[in-house]
Amino acid sequence: MIQIFENQSLLNKNTFAINSIAKYYISISAKEELLDIPNNIRTFVLGGGSNVVLPPYFDGLILDININGFDIVRKDSDFEIIKVGAGESWDNFVFKSISQGLFGFENLALIPGKVGAAPIQNIGAYGIEQDKYFYKLEYFDLESNSFKELYKTDCQFGYRNSVFKSTLKNKAVITNVYYRLPKNWEPVINYKDINEFLSANKDFELSPINIYNLVSQIRKSKLPDPAYQPNAGSFFKNPIISRSEYEKITKVNPEISGFISGDFVKLSAAKLIEIAGWKGKGIGINPKAKVSPDHSLVITGSDGVNQEQIILLSDAIINDIYKKFGILLEREVNIIQ
Ligand SMILES: Cc1cc2nc3c(=O)[nH]c(=O)nc-3n(C[C@H](O)[C@H](O)[C@H](O)COP(=O)(O)OP(=O)(O)OC[C@H]3O[C@@H](n4cnc5c(N)ncnc54)[C@H](O)[C@@H]3O)c2cc1C
Repeated sequence: MIQIFENQSLLNKNTFAINSIAKYYISISAKEELLDIPNNIRTFVLGGGSNVVLPPYFDGLILDININGFDIVRKDSDFEIIKVGAGESWDNFVFKSISQGLFGFENLALIPGKVGAAPIQNIGAYGIEQDKYFYKLEYFDLESNSFKELYKTDCQFGYRNSVFKSTLKNKAVITNVYYRLPKNWEPVINYKDINEFLSANKDFELSPINIYNLVSQIRKSKLPDPAYQPNAGSFFKNPIISRSEYEKITKVNPEISGFISGDFVKLSAAKLIEIAGWKGKGIGINPKAKVSPDHSLVITGSDGVNQEQIILLSDAIINDIYKKFGILLEREVNIIQ
């Protein structure tokens, strides 16, 4: 039986620690409960709140997804398929699968948030994206009030993108995700930070758990911890431009770096923001929203930060980068109205 709460504070349910109030709030711990939610009301699905900038007041229903479960549903000689509840912590899932001899996601260690959100922006880090081992998912369709399934090709996964950011935006409540994890391990170690560490530590034993621990250690040393410095991770996507545009831009600004892939180049948004002089800066005197002094892709908020201050700063950065380099940055973090 679902319980509807009114005027619920979401302060502890988002990593920016924004004091947002939800008009209505329901915690969902079993997928069948979704059949009982009111369906004539604007609804937003919340996971761990690590990729959102919430408004002061959400005039609708927040569905907080807490569906648990970790079940091996198919065993084969070289892989197993795991069904994971959307409410499970992503990092717990990664650690648990490694502990059970199922590998592949160790480079995605320590990404905050829940499993149900991982397909939304196709989370990625250190050379891997979640679609690499994605098999299918189950979701509740808020328009038809029925349960549906989507296989990998229908999810339209891309760089920080999926069908859930376009045609299915705000229409699907993901309840379970299935991953097909291999038993044979192939390390992915070509990413700069991992590579540098391995070159300097020749006796490092390559194993899934060691890579998991190494990635966790690198992340802790680079990214501000939301528990002490509220943030939502990388605020902007790395822009992808054509090679000819890249050549034009680097002629004028040789310090801009990019990763060339075929006809396209993925630029470092962090580098652009740093070159433009935003590292450690905010707007006005004593700003509550600032670009992290440690990582220029991260915006941090201090006590009492609100959505307006974060939007103001991110808009100023977008306009400035466009003016200086002719490149339009796109937010990775979801602004919720
Ligand atoms: C310190 C830090 C580091 C980070 N590092 C990375 C990184 O390396 N790589 C990366 O890709 N991301 C990273 N992120 C961003 C974030 O962790 C991921 O996007 C994560 O998947 C968000 O999960 P969440 O449960 O917190 O989702 P939320 O922030 O709650 O929601 C994000 C979006 O997903 C939707 N959503 C959530 N759950 C469901 C569901 N069950 N059904 C349907 N829609 C749902 C929401 O409606 C919203 O649109 C980082 C964030 C932080 C704070």
